[in-house]
Amino acid sequence: MRGYLGVDGIDLSLNKTVTTEGLFVNNNNILLYLMLTGIVLGGVCGWVFGEQMLVVDWIGEMFLDALKMLVIPLVVSSMIVGIAGLGDIRKVGKTGMITLTYFLSTTAFSVAVGIVVVNVMQPGLGVEMTSMAVPDKVAGKESVGITDILHSFVSPNLIRSMAEMEILPIIMFSLVFGGILTTLGERGKLVISVFDGINAAIMKIVHLVMYVAPLGVFALIASKLGAAGGGDLFLAELLKIGKFAATVILGLLFHAAVTLPLVLFFFTKRNPLVYLKNMSEAITTALSTASSSATLPVTIECVEKQNRVSRRTTLFVIPLGATVNMNGTALYESVAAIFIAQVVGIPLGFWEQVLIFLTATLAAIGAAGIPEAGLVTMVIVLKAVGLPLEGIGMLLSIDWFLDRLRTSINVWGDSIGAAVVDTLELKYVEEDGSG
Ligand code: ASP
Repeated sequence: MRGYLGVDGIDLSLNKTVTTEGLFVNNNNILLYLMLTGIVLGGVCGWVFGEQMLVVDWIGEMFLDALKMLVIPLVVSSMIVGIAGLGDIRKVGKTGMITLTYFLSTTAFSVAVGIVVVNVMQPGLGVEMTSMAVPDKVAGKESVGITDILHSFVSPNLIRSMAEMEILPIIMFSLVFGGILTTLGERGKLVISVFDGINAAIMKIVHLVMYVAPLGVFALIASKLGAAGGGDLFLAELLKIGKFAATVILGLLFHAAVTLPLVLFFFTKRNPLVYLKNMSEAITTALSTASSSATLPVTIECVEKQNRVSRRTTLFVIPLGATVNMNGTALYESVAAIFIAQVVGIPLGFWEQVLIFLTATLAAIGAAGIPEAGLVTMVIVLKAVGLPLEGIGMLLSIDWFLDRLRTSINVWGDSIGAAVVDTLELKYVEEDGSG
């Protein structure tokens, strides 16, 4: 029988003592409808009133900060409780392998989809290169390389990493820390249950924050569209590279509506539509915040409480996924790089496209779960095949919009990963007597 037993039989599920149903469940989806209304109203107001909507900017920022405030304690406690919940080191190893295989294969597949779509649609043909300078966002980052991604797994100063929301080293530390705790017997159990309590408390705070989510998403969308100058200006910018935007959207849609649901159904036999509906609050939050990290608290809630993935798998897979598994970003980076090549008229042969495939996969892993992080790691992809970094300037004006879409796909991919890992773990780790 599957349980949530951690080290030496500690019950880490706390299902009996912690009821975090809140307004997510048992509330006739009221939160979801309110959030959807918030997004639509935000879009309409931002479109019509333009810059005037900047007056609600502070509300959106407050909502965003309230979510971000929870991220570090949530990541640390989730990883520690998650790894302890997996049990002994062999189970951790197997579950880790399943998780990484899922992350890598879906990311690689999304890049492949991007490469096919951009080669078929050829959005860069006939488009003029309009940007002449390396944009501020990536200036100074020209020397970023693959070794920097590897280096970012550790940090010389955890407190600084926490202050700067560099999640990767925090995850690494918490994984090792949690793993070591499971070897310390009674003393370890004590510390694990402290983090378990912290985790449960933070999730309760998530519920409180979500009461203002409809207002928060409204303000975020309205002010962002307002900052972009309102509907008419946004539309004009979008149409300038409309075919590029359409290519990205088509690729993202294919991955979200075909690949990922098939993966979900094939491995778990779950209904993708029901799974999607249960993830709606998280996807709406991703759409309005453009940040996988800020969305993390909501993703955990939706995966565990609404889609009923086991707590230990959720706590292990979701923080990891929010940081390293970015299907949407990977697809975007491959489409953008090949688009830039088409614009500047540099033909890319088979091997160059293979290089784009490899570097876009890595660049997505290295991208932080924050707004427009994908633009920065795109430097790695462009440099690998000798494309001009100035090309990124062409994408800037509408990146805030495409970022929201790819972030939503990132979160959707993470959530499906949790269900897949949960099922495979049950099959290959739990039932394996040696495990
Ligand atoms: N904003 C994305 C995320 O947080 C990363 C990116 O593609 O820029 O998932």
